[in-house]
Amino acid sequence: MARNFDQQDTYKQEFDARHFKRLLTYLKPYRWVILLTLAIMIMISVSEMAGPILIQQAIDHAIPDSNLGYLNLIGIMYLLLRIVMAVGMYFRTRLMNRTGQSMIYNMRKELYNHLQKLSLRFFDGRPAGKIMTRLTSDIENLNELLTSGIVQVINDMITLVLIMGIMLYMNVRLALYTFVIMPILVFIATKLRNYVRDNWREVRKKRSAMNAFLQESISGIRTIQAFTQENDSQESFKMVNDDYTVTQIKATKTSLLFRPSVELTAAIGTCIVYWVGAYYVLDGKITTGILVAFFSYVGRFWEPISRMSNFYNTMLVAMASAERVFTILDTEPEISNSLDATKMGVIDGSVEFNGVHFAYDEGTPVLKGINFQVEPGQSIAIVGPTGAGKSTIINLIPRFYDVTEGEILIDGRDVRNVEVDSLRNQMSIVLQDPLIFSGTIRENIRYGKLDATDDEIIEAAKAANAHEFIMEFDSGYDTDVQERGSRLSVGQRQLISFARAIIANPRILILDEATSSIDTKTEKLIQDAIQKVLLGRTSFIIAHRLSTIRNADKIIVIDDGCIVESGSHEELMDQRGVYFNLNKAQYHNLQRASTVSGR
Ligand code: ADP
Repeated sequence: MARNFDQQDTYKQEFDARHFKRLLTYLKPYRWVILLTLAIMIMISVSEMAGPILIQQAIDHAIPDSNLGYLNLIGIMYLLLRIVMAVGMYFRTRLMNRTGQSMIYNMRKELYNHLQKLSLRFFDGRPAGKIMTRLTSDIENLNELLTSGIVQVINDMITLVLIMGIMLYMNVRLALYTFVIMPILVFIATKLRNYVRDNWREVRKKRSAMNAFLQESISGIRTIQAFTQENDSQESFKMVNDDYTVTQIKATKTSLLFRPSVELTAAIGTCIVYWVGAYYVLDGKITTGILVAFFSYVGRFWEPISRMSNFYNTMLVAMASAERVFTILDTEPEISNSLDATKMGVIDGSVEFNGVHFAYDEGTPVLKGINFQVEPGQSIAIVGPTGAGKSTIINLIPRFYDVTEGEILIDGRDVRNVEVDSLRNQMSIVLQDPLIFSGTIRENIRYGKLDATDDEIIEAAKAANAHEFIMEFDSGYDTDVQERGSRLSVGQRQLISFARAIIANPRILILDEATSSIDTKTEKLIQDAIQKVLLGRTSFIIAHRLSTIRNADKIIVIDDGCIVESGSHEELMDQRGVYFNLNKAQYHNLQRASTVSGR
């Protein structure tokens, strides 16, 4: 059903021959299997078409002549043909399914591998859901066209020509009379079907609107109740609900026209055969056997006509999907190794920003001339108001984005001139709300170093102050985080990601301190773990609690994309500038908070 709806959305797309040709290249490795499938399908069609001829032979010759031998032969032939059909259908489905699955498996792999290489900028503007659709339903649509679609339509053409040929051979005039219903069938298969589709598309739109409304109001129920907007909300829901119901009823009504129209047209065909054919029999123009064969053939127009006209829709949907998939495949990774990039050996960890400018979107500069230098092993704290550009600075160090102007040197080398992997391998990043993958805690820590032993993992967890809380879980390190996912606090997730960072043993560590409130006990564990994690490596900390960074070797204060102050805690306090004031403000806030909670 869902895919049908997708089809409705796109069936008015243009056909693009370029995409079609490129799609066909995916069929190439399977060309022999596809030809074999087609041969089997034609065999099935021929066996099916031969049935009425056998009956005609029996009625016209074997029965009047009382030729028992011939009658038996016809019976056996009929049975054999049915067996051939059954076996053929089994193999046709098996072959098509296997080829199709193997083809979309490869396509999905190609697309996924390509996505992994694309730069963050690509993902910035695209919701994850849309990208996932490329990997799932778009590729599924392509499969439908490439396997069943093309082969089936060739087979349908052959079938239709075969039926018409046999009928014309049996009696030209009667055949021509029956062909009258064909244009009606084509009309039903195209115009009426599209009309029904349009109606269902409308239903889908209304349903999405209703879903969106529900999602918003359920997740915002707190706000709705807080502002006592329940009545208003009910009124709005009534509108979307009404809308949806009315469209659904209309669509169902139009759908109901479809099948009866087909049946009625087939009945008209049968009546033509009956009246014209019966007269011909009386006139001796055709035999009774031929009349019976005609009855049988006239009912077989619909299926191939219906599928062939539907093929056009399938193709347009697939073309739209192909275009989306190919657009991704043709997107060059923005951050890639330059031709003369060389491997970065083990680094000492000095980092230098020289006149760095950066903009996510052209025309809106985010960093405006950042200069600083960090010696190996030093810890640097970056502070400043939200939106100042702190995260942007740390995004540039692993080269998630390239600078717009200026340069970033690591161990004296421009990051753009070294192989990206060899650079990122030596860095670890712990984010505010760290990403914990589905799987066990052990696997999550091991992600930092895939060949780590269990002992190393425990050691890292101990160093990160995570061991204790992990052991409190019933399954310890084998606790499935997804099951517990929502129950792992932000603090616990940070500790796990510290362990992950420690086990990776990076030369440069980037740490975005959690902003959300963390209980005092975990907070102490985190502070203590941070000190241990920083030891012996160059580290960048975006600190939200200024108490965290007293010991930092250097503090950089950022505002509006510029460094406004830098120095050690003591130096900056002596300057009595921005940092001093930030400290004062935070101290007062803390004081106020503790007085309030102390009351
Ligand atoms: P901070 O970490 O200091 O809060 P950021 O570095 O996250 O600040 O953001 C600096 C500015 O860049 C903000 O104005 C923000 O809106 C913008 N920005 C951040 N990330 C992106 C992005 N991926 N695309 C476009 N603009 C962004």
